[in-house]
Amino acid sequence: MQEYRDLLQKNDPDIFNALSGEEIRQKVGIELIPSENYTYPEVLCTLGSVLTNKYSEGYPGRRYYGGQEFTDIIESIACERAKQVFRCEHANVQPLSGSPMNQAVYLGLLEPGDTILAMDLSHGGHLTHGAPVSFMGKLFNFIRYKTDPVDGAIDFDELRKTAIAHKPKMILCGYTSYPRDLDYAKFKEIADEVGAITMTDASHYGGLIAADAIRNPFDFGFDVVTTTSHKSLRGPRGGMILCKKEFAPKIDKAVFPGLQGGPHMNTIAGIAVTLKKAAEPEFHEYGLQVLNNSKALAGELIKCGASLVTGGTDNHMMVLDTEKSFGINGKIAEELLDEVSITTNKQILPDDPNPPLRPSGIRIGTPAATTRGMKEADMILLAGWMTKILQNPEDKVLAADTKAEIESF
Ligand SMILES: *Cc1c(COP(=O)(O)O)cnc(C)c1O
Repeated sequence: MQEYRDLLQKNDPDIFNALSGEEIRQKVGIELIPSENYTYPEVLCTLGSVLTNKYSEGYPGRRYYGGQEFTDIIESIACERAKQVFRCEHANVQPLSGSPMNQAVYLGLLEPGDTILAMDLSHGGHLTHGAPVSFMGKLFNFIRYKTDPVDGAIDFDELRKTAIAHKPKMILCGYTSYPRDLDYAKFKEIADEVGAITMTDASHYGGLIAADAIRNPFDFGFDVVTTTSHKSLRGPRGGMILCKKEFAPKIDKAVFPGLQGGPHMNTIAGIAVTLKKAAEPEFHEYGLQVLNNSKALAGELIKCGASLVTGGTDNHMMVLDTEKSFGINGKIAEELLDEVSITTNKQILPDDPNPPLRPSGIRIGTPAATTRGMKEADMILLAGWMTKILQNPEDKVLAADTKAEIESF
C-alpha cells in the first residue's frame, strides 16, 4: 500500500493531500453518523487491488468474459458466507450500492404500477422506499404507514387497515431513521392476510443482524432482506440481496442484466472478507457493544435534558429533537457539533413542520464509535460534551475547549 501512496503523492498531490486530510479528519473526530463506519484494513486492501481491472458480467460459472478463474472463487465464497451469516437460502452480492439493490428487488419481483406499502419518509423510511423525488416513486405505487404520534412506534393498527384497503403486492419494512427494532412477526402476519411479499431493507442494521444482536427477519419467514455492506456491517460500499430460493432467479436476473453491467469484483472480495469477520465471535461482541453504547448514550442524553423520538433506543441509533430540547434546528445542531469534531447529521422528524435542509432534529448512531473501541463510560462523556455545546450555542470559549478535549481524547 505504501508504494501506491508514494506514487499518488508524487503524481497527483492535489488528490493525495485531500485524501490525507480526510484520513486525519476521520482520526481526530468522533463519528456519530449512524450509517457510517470504519472498514477493516483487509477490506481496503481488496478495494485497492487489481480486481478493479476485471470484468465479470454474469454469475460464477456463467460469465460473459473469459479469465474468471479467481473471480468465480471470490464471488462464490462471498455468497456462501452471506447465506451462513444471515441464515438464508440465496444471496446476490453484486448490487453496486444500497439504492440499486432495492431497485433490483422491486423490478425483479413486481410489475410497474404495483402497490408497495412502505414507511413514510419523515417517519424514518428511506428515499428508495418510494419518495416522490426517486424514480422508483414514479414507477411504483407507494403507499405509506407511519408511527404513532404518542409513543413514536410503528402504528400496526393503522398499517393493517392501510394494507387491507390497498392490497399491496409487497410490504416493506426498514428504516434510515427509527430507533427501535422491528416486529417482523406482525409485518408477516399482515402481509399473509393480504397476500403480500415481505421485504426488509436492513441497510442500517444488516451488521446487527449478522452479529445476532437484534432479530433476524428470516426467523419470522421474511421473503427478502436487503442490506448495504458499508454501514453496521463494516465492509466496503456495496449492497446484498438475501432471499428465499423461490425468488433467486428473478432477483439475479434483475441485478444482471436487468439493472447493472459488470459487478465490482474488488468490492465483492471486500464483502467476502467482511462476512468472514462477521461470523467470528468478536463480531457478535461488537454488535452487542453497539447496542449497549447506544443505550448508554441515549440514557445520558435524556438525563442531560435531551428529548429523543420514542424516548430512547433499542438499536444503534437515536433521533434527537433539537428544537424541543435546545430550541435550535438540526442544521444548527449539526454545525455546532461539527465545530467540536463530533459528526452527526440533521434529520427530519415525523411530520416535521421544518424543511429537510433545516429540520427539527439530528440522528446519532454508535457503530463507528464502537469500532474505535468506545464503551459505555465514553458515551457518558460524549453526552456531556454534546449537551453542553447544544445548550450554549454562543459560547466560543466552551467550543474551543471542548474541541481540544475531544481531539486529545
Ligand atoms: C443507506 C440506505 C440505503 C442506500 O444505500 P446507498 O448505498 O447510499 O445507495 C437504502 N436503504 C436504506 C434504509 C438506507 O439506510
